[in-house]
Amino acid sequence: MQNFDLNTLVRKNIIALKPYSSARDEFKGEAEVYLDANENPYPSGYNRYPDPLQWKVKELLAQQKEVKAEQIFLGNGSDEAIDLLIRVFCEPNQDSVMITEPTYGMYRVCANINAVAIQNVLLTKDYQLDTEGILKAVTPNTKIIFLCSPNNPTGNLLSVDDISKVLNNFSGLVVVDEAYIDFAGDVSLIKELKKYPNLVILQTFSKAWGLAGLRLGMCFASEAIINLLNKVKYPYNVNIKTQELAAEALLNADSKDRAVAEILSERGQLVDTLNQIPFVIKVYPSDANFVLVAIENASVTYQKLMQQGIIVRDRSTVVLCESSLRITIGTPEENKKLINSLKQI
Ligand SMILES: *Cc1c(COP(=O)(O)O)cnc(C)c1O
Repeated sequence: MQNFDLNTLVRKNIIALKPYSSARDEFKGEAEVYLDANENPYPSGYNRYPDPLQWKVKELLAQQKEVKAEQIFLGNGSDEAIDLLIRVFCEPNQDSVMITEPTYGMYRVCANINAVAIQNVLLTKDYQLDTEGILKAVTPNTKIIFLCSPNNPTGNLLSVDDISKVLNNFSGLVVVDEAYIDFAGDVSLIKELKKYPNLVILQTFSKAWGLAGLRLGMCFASEAIINLLNKVKYPYNVNIKTQELAAEALLNADSKDRAVAEILSERGQLVDTLNQIPFVIKVYPSDANFVLVAIENASVTYQKLMQQGIIVRDRSTVVLCESSLRITIGTPEENKKLINSLKQI
């Protein structure tokens, strides 16, 4: 990255901010009697506040991801990290973020909420980065470039060479959203964090880990960037139950791996079957737990599936996804029902 300087990227008020100091920030040891947080002393399982920095979960993650626990931020879904990154780095009504549509909708929504402008450089026709277009569009006010790999809703990994080109030639933050990385093999860019101080990686417990209902997202970056996110987050942003269940899940990672293997095998079969359906125009290659399918009369097909109780995502109004449905890989039974319903249309 060119001339990366974290301090000039961060909003001035955030540098100056004196963060809220909770009872658990001010006393971190083990004690016999806790009378410092106005909690109810009678045990309910949840009468005490949670660890504000979720160290137990982070230690387990640090081992598995081979980073320092201090390089991890945990939030109420990855969506919290997306929002915090924009709030920490982008001055409202002045700065901008770059996105590459078609992509995940939350980058645009979070920028809009924070009155941060959006620069949209479309993906190419084969859903890869237009690196030249991206680098040309950068202005001194472009603070963050959001990339999503594997990309939602197209399903494909972005070329690592292209991502490196952006990292090497942009002096702001490059956020790579790896929500679906567990379905793509051993290709996470986490190992590149040592090389790129401007790289931020997002992952989540919502997809491969099967814990969407808990709301737990992960952000990996330099300690300096993580410290900034911690400074701004709500003091107790991840509840006790979520921390306990996430730690349990991390100790049983093989169960996640088994689910991923099954979903990938189902994906292969579903793609083969979809390709045999006459009104399917194209099944796009997927590195995720869903497939984007170009289909004749996509919206009509969406409605007909819905009438049979099968809900997929109609993406036919999304740029470069015209006439496409996004279909999540379900259980073998669910996928069979989908195929049977499609064949009846
Ligand atoms: C599903 C998804 C997420 C997950 O968001 P959470 O808030 O962690 O549930 C993040 N990014 C992308 C691209 C997604 O598709």
